[in-house]
Amino acid sequence: MIASSLLSRTLLSRLPAFEPGSVWLAGAGPGDPGLLTLLAAKALGEADAIVHDALVGGGILEAANPDALLVDMGKRAGHPSPKQEAINERLVELAREGRRVLRLKGGDPFVFGRGGEECLALAEAEIPFRVVPGVTAGIGGLAYAGIPVTHRGFGTTATFVTGHDKAGGLPADLDWDVLARLPGALVFYMALGTIGTIAERLEAAGKPPMTPVAIVSSASTEAQSVIETNLAHCARDVVRLQAKRPAIIVVGEVVRLRSLIGAWQQTTGQNPFSIAVSA
Ligand code: SAH
Repeated sequence: MIASSLLSRTLLSRLPAFEPGSVWLAGAGPGDPGLLTLLAAKALGEADAIVHDALVGGGILEAANPDALLVDMGKRAGHPSPKQEAINERLVELAREGRRVLRLKGGDPFVFGRGGEECLALAEAEIPFRVVPGVTAGIGGLAYAGIPVTHRGFGTTATFVTGHDKAGGLPADLDWDVLARLPGALVFYMALGTIGTIAERLEAAGKPPMTPVAIVSSASTEAQSVIETNLAHCARDVVRLQAKRPAIIVVGEVVRLRSLIGAWQQTTGQNPFSIAVSA
């Protein structure tokens, strides 16, 4: 489909070659295949082996080279997941077999995606690799819900935070006083299970209880849903409305723009995904 337009053909012809024996570590974006980069789309079509995560949607894998070996290395909360070392070894092994290896991750490979660890392992094994950034859920996923991650007059920072450490709990090194004082959006990844504690800590550190919160599930997919709430009620609403994973959670005034930007897009049919709100 991409190759059918002259513009895309011209762009594709300028992209670097995907060499056998190399690894491309690429982000697939949050779900909508339209958010793939040209480099990721090229790699999907040319890869001999695709090592992907659970977060990479079926719609994207359907566009893969039909002869490619598909290796599912999905990690998902609550399920046993392959160890990082096993993934690293698999990448090295496939590259040493002389394949064009696409390591495809949800969102951006370097945003809470352990892409750096894989690069270090590949460098150590002397495997050539390229990093292809992707649209991260904390920016593109919010955009699909009608929420700009920054907006003039609504703050001067945007901060990405993981709500989940190796052991599955809230990371111990987060400084809640600093987070509560930052003048902009706080964007939490992997935080559906810890949102109650997050809200408590932020409130205890002085963040107003009525600070708007949005929980965007399965952003940019058919299953997209948005819950708009506030700090005081978000934990209750996650349970009451059965918010689904994966979810990106944003705390901040920018959430207020959703009722204008998201709602207008919905009225005019310009957002292909459901942006229905409940709370
Ligand atoms: N590298 C990814 C993040 C991986 S961590 C990126 O850049 O987006 C996994 C977390 O990402 C999930 O727990 C969720 O918080 C977020 N996430 C990824 N895809 C999402 C989607 N389509 N909708 C909502 N959240 C998503």
